[in-house]
Amino acid sequence: MKADIVTIFPDFFRGPLEYGITRRAQEMGLAKIEVHDLRRFTHDRHRTVDDRPFGGGEGMVLKPEPIFDCLQPLGLASRERRLDGAVGESVILLSAQGERFTQKLAAELAKLERIVLICGRYEGVDERVADFLADRELSIGDYVLSGGELGAAVILEAVTRLLPGAVGNEASTRQESFTAQATGGEVREGGEDTEKDGPDSTCGSNGLLDYPHYTRPAEFRGMSVPEVLINGNHQQIRRWRREQALKKTLRNRPDLLESATLSDEDKKLLI
Ligand code: SAM
Repeated sequence: MKADIVTIFPDFFRGPLEYGITRRAQEMGLAKIEVHDLRRFTHDRHRTVDDRPFGGGEGMVLKPEPIFDCLQPLGLASRERRLDGAVGESVILLSAQGERFTQKLAAELAKLERIVLICGRYEGVDERVADFLADRELSIGDYVLSGGELGAAVILEAVTRLLPGAVGNEASTRQESFTAQATGGEVREGGEDTEKDGPDSTCGSNGLLDYPHYTRPAEFRGMSVPEVLINGNHQQIRRWRREQALKKTLRNRPDLLESATLSDEDKKLLI
């Protein structure tokens, strides 16, 4: 995948792009990420990227010309072809007013060949960018940040770790929180699935939050790892994990239960 980030703060990305899986994916050639300094596409002495809003009001607005000029040489297909799905490209404007970014969207974006992330600043971006240049506006949550850079970093990290080969154990990305189709196996009553090769392949979230994880030591300052995880009974471990995932989802994100795939036994556990 090729990703382009458009920003007035290119140095901001030094951290997020140079650690962990995002770095590894670039080193492995799975992702090529380029950061474009918007000020390079200005034509005045002061490298002006913003201006006052028409109609008055607070703050400054990012001007359209540098953003259009920055995308021009990227060789993207036309907006019409991108929106038709004729090409695997998407131009994304980071915006608090955008569609909420989710794991489902991350999976969709991970299938594309190219994404462009435009980071807003100040009071926002001239609306013509959303109307005529970007294919979609994405928000990373219902709060207002000072710029789109953190959002772009969040989206890139979520997408990059879904690129085939980016995460060492690929199965782990299929059974995480929010992941609708958690395993390749068919879910049976009681949250079991048809795979029989151990507990980890069978406890995927199927749209729920992840189950709790523990590691050594089994006893730590009087806090014990649940006995069921130590006894080696895979069937019991599966059931316990499913129950915990259900309970945690009910407690922290009951909204997810509406669209999750629940067996009859799951429903009983929730009562
Ligand atoms: N006036 C805008 C509003 O009320 O919706 C907020 C502008 S914000 C201060 C500046 C920039 O930060 C936005 O153009 C956008 O790129 C980015 N931004 C702020 N909150 C965001 C969010 N929740 N998700 C994604 N980007 C966000």
